Amino acid sequence: MSTQQVISFNYTLRNKAGEVIDQSREGEPLEFLSGAGFIIEGLEENLLSMDAGQSGEVMVRPEKGYGFRDEAQIDVVSLSQLPVDEVKVGDYFQAGSDRQAPVVRVIKVDGDSVTLDANHPLAGQDLFFSVDLVSKRAATPEELAHGHVHSGGGCCGGGSCSH
Ligand code: ZN
Repeated sequence: MSTQQVISFNYTLRNKAGEVIDQSREGEPLEFLSGAGFIIEGLEENLLSMDAGQSGEVMVRPEKGYGFRDEAQIDVVSLSQLPVDEVKVGDYFQAGSDRQAPVVRVIKVDGDSVTLDANHPLAGQDLFFSVDLVSKRAATPEELAHGHVHSGGGCCGGGSCSH
């Protein structure tokens, strides 16, 4: 199927231990345009094969999820290079002033030396999604041109859109 779809779904994401890592908010399903890289490949493939109203369990391996951990993404910097005076393990920073800059996570603090990890926190993990497909429709030509979903108020909620 080559037509891009607009899919709306509720989800609960659990790790291998069965702990809830993330979930959509009650009554606020996640809506996305397929084929545009908004959600991980393994989940999108499954949602595309489901019909509105269907529920299912989807297991996604790292190769179709957030990839594998890469040791080259780990960096040790000194505290003075960071935009704060104090850090602790588990803190997140944007590595640069650009909005697209990668997010790094503090994984170790040893005096003035801080170890930062730019790997996605879910890299290397098998992901277990419980999904409930709310709606599915073909994307409109305008949505395809903009590369995102127009719902309710139209483009970007009816506000001005920079796309
Ligand atoms: Zn738009």
